[in-house]
Amino acid sequence: MKRLLPIVDRDSSLIVVYLATVLIAGGILAYLSINSISNFRELTEKRVSEEEKEIHSAYVSHFRYVLDGLTGELRGQAQEHMEDLEESAEPITHPLVSDYLIISKNGALIRPHFSIQEGVTPPGSKTGFSNWYELGEQQEFQNEDFVAAETAYSRALERADAACDSAKAINALSRLYNKLKQAERARGHYQSLIGEFGLCTNRFGIPYAYFGVDRLLRVESASPISESKSLVAEFLQNLVGNQIAFTSTTTGLLDTISEHQVLTSDPKIAGLILAARGKLFQIERYRPVLKELLEGKLGWEANKVNDFVMVPPSAAGNDLFAVYESSEVLYGFVIPFELLDQQARTGLKWDGYNFGYEVITRKRSLNPQGMKAFLEFEGTINPCFPNEVLLVRPKNPDEIHDFVFMRKLITYLGLTLLVAAMIIGLYMLVQDVNRKKKMARLRTDFVANVTHELKTPLTSINMFADSILLNRYRSDEGLKKYARIILKESEKLKRMVNNILEFARQENNKVFYELREENIAEIIHQVMEEMDYWLYAHNFEVQVELDESLYAMVDAEGLKQVLSNLITNAIKYSPEDKRIAIRSYMRVKEICIDVEDHGIGIPQEQQDSIFKKFYRVSEEPGAEASGTGLGLTVSKEIIEAMNGTLTVRSSPGKGSIFTITLYTIAS
Ligand code: ADP
Repeated sequence: MKRLLPIVDRDSSLIVVYLATVLIAGGILAYLSINSISNFRELTEKRVSEEEKEIHSAYVSHFRYVLDGLTGELRGQAQEHMEDLEESAEPITHPLVSDYLIISKNGALIRPHFSIQEGVTPPGSKTGFSNWYELGEQQEFQNEDFVAAETAYSRALERADAACDSAKAINALSRLYNKLKQAERARGHYQSLIGEFGLCTNRFGIPYAYFGVDRLLRVESASPISESKSLVAEFLQNLVGNQIAFTSTTTGLLDTISEHQVLTSDPKIAGLILAARGKLFQIERYRPVLKELLEGKLGWEANKVNDFVMVPPSAAGNDLFAVYESSEVLYGFVIPFELLDQQARTGLKWDGYNFGYEVITRKRSLNPQGMKAFLEFEGTINPCFPNEVLLVRPKNPDEIHDFVFMRKLITYLGLTLLVAAMIIGLYMLVQDVNRKKKMARLRTDFVANVTHELKTPLTSINMFADSILLNRYRSDEGLKKYARIILKESEKLKRMVNNILEFARQENNKVFYELREENIAEIIHQVMEEMDYWLYAHNFEVQVELDESLYAMVDAEGLKQVLSNLITNAIKYSPEDKRIAIRSYMRVKEICIDVEDHGIGIPQEQQDSIFKKFYRVSEEPGAEASGTGLGLTVSKEIIEAMNGTLTVRSSPGKGSIFTITLYTIAS
């Protein structure tokens, strides 16, 4: 017993340690989880903001890179362009540039050609041309002699040296043919004004081609407008293509053209009108800028990229105007923001992040400060575009909510499972310790019980052997009686020792039974013979009903041990109604042996436990019926080793029936 106590103590302290660990670990975990969950939303939102900032800065640096590359290329092209500016240079083209303007250092717009009304033309040399031309005018306007006028103008044309003198004469002739209603001839002259002399202007700076078109469309025109369509288209084409100069009267002319449904219904002409108006718009907008830069009114050094002065878009516009100064001229490039934006986006990846984002470029004014929605990041793009901002925001804000929610769920679930596992572990530990404690107590009881059990027969044997030795008997019959008592007590002792040994062997898995075909009734008879003495000694009424024909594969000694255990129990636990019945019979395909008594019976809830080792219904040592608690344990093991079963039916106060079931041998 002393040896067993420390085990119990150790287990108890184990529970305390475990309990403390569970409590501390559980507490720490709960604290950490709750803490981390409350921080988790904040952390996620922070991460979203970080990623949005990253996307923004990647875009911004790419944008700058694109702008740097573009200005570098444009500078190279402008320098090349300069070299043959005089001979009609190839236009500068770049995918990111929508158009460009060139202004000379004296303020004249070279591209697109824009002729300014100067009001004065340098007096022409009084050559043959002038004389004939003036004569023509005289004949045309004063004398209204158109034939003479035609001759004079034609003479002037023949003598024209400068290109623009020819244009002047052709213009006069076309005017004349118009008056003479010679449509074909007039149109031929318009054709050359439009096609060949687009850059020639009169002394008011108006290109002669304008007069041609104007006359074509006027009511007094000699030919129907539909026939003039291709000529108007050519005029517009040359205007947009920089072959005919723009002037302050261009808008008026374009309006005149637009009045004619026959012309505007042609998509080509409509498109060209639009393009021409666009150019005019650009001239109006950027010419003053270029002039101001020439005059040094704008800070030339301010906001420079790669030697380009950057003129940011005005509130209404979307184009950057990048101006480059070369030795002779100023180049102004029109760079639409959309094109730069597109270029900055190519090659950038938005999908390497934890969440999906959309990246929008928009005007700053659309979203005033403080009105930003949930988890939106807004930042400037480039100093050249002070009004454009980049907005980065989650494509689907619900995705972030769901992510946080799932994390919470997993953490809480994990925590719950962990706590549950800890509690189950604790419960199992307590159970285990209780079982160990119970076993320890049963073992202790067992030792006391065995001592008691062994003592009783030994005392009898000792006493009767003593009497025989001291001749304390009256007759031979008395001697025999004493000897029989010694024999029966020693048999009882043997049975008890056998049970203990059998149990020890079973515990060590060292039991081997030899199964042989045996007559069951015969074995029961032998046991009854052995037990007769005790049944008689305790005044039992015994009823034996046996089917003598039953054979089974059994270990005879084992079965005998089981039967004598059952009969011993029947005797022990029948203090009043001393009736015992032994029966053997066939039930379906099984052989059954009943040992029935009318004793104290066994409560229902303990009927399983009585087969467990050391288990006794009354566990106090030295109780009325003593025992070791091993008999039924050993018996069940033996029967099961013979492939049979040992069961009990019992009700307290009425008695018990123990039934051995064995299987028949196939005959
Ligand atoms: P024991 O040596 O205590 O008899 P057993 O293993 O043979 O050990 O029996 C276990 C317990 O089962 C007994 O302590 C007793 O309480 C109960 N028991 C066994 N047989 C009977 C019976 N025939 N009538 C009533 N109780 C019984």
